[in-house]
Amino acid sequence: MSGFAIGSKRAGDGGRTPVFRWECPCRQQPVLLATYDAAGRINIKVRDRYWHVHGQVQAICPRCGAEHILDLRHVEPPSSPPDRQRPNRSV
Ligand SMILES: [Zn+2]
Repeated sequence: MSGFAIGSKRAGDGGRTPVFRWECPCRQQPVLLATYDAAGRINIKVRDRYWHVHGQVQAICPRCGAEHILDLRHVEPPSSPPDRQRPNRSV
C-alpha cells in the first residue's frame, strides 16, 4: 500500500505525493536542507514557518557551509491540463 514512506512526521497535503529529501552528504547522517515533491514544490521548514518554493532555491548547509542549488524548474506537475501544450519551435 505504501510505496513511499520517507520519515516525514507531518505531511501538509495529506501525504499522497511522494516527498524527496534534499540533503547535504557532508556528514555520515546527511544534513536535511529541504524536502520537495514530484510536482516541483520545495518545502523548507524554518523554525515555526513552512516555506513553499517553486523553481530554484539556494541553501547553505549549516554544518559545512557548502552552497547547494536545487533547480526544479524543469519539473512539470503531473496534473497539468493536457490541452495546454507548449509548442517547441513553432510560432
Ligand atoms: Zn554540508
